[in-house]
Amino acid sequence: MVCFCFLVDQKRVVRRSKPLAGTCSRCGGGASVADMRTATRFCYVPLYWKSWKAVVCTFCGAILKSYR
Ligand SMILES: [Zn+2]
Repeated sequence: MVCFCFLVDQKRVVRRSKPLAGTCSRCGGGASVADMRTATRFCYVPLYWKSWKAVVCTFCGAILKSYR
């Protein structure tokens, strides 16, 4: 019997961030530029990492803008 595991998830990690002039459109909190890393995992085993940049809210964590 073959058992397939379709447990794929993505984990988002903020590697570093620095404050940015601007506010969040959702909560009014401070925005910051962050180096993000997204890990795509299959059965909790990381398959690949993707690095990207985004402007995120430091208060609610909303992604206000993303760069590729
Ligand atoms: Zn916010």
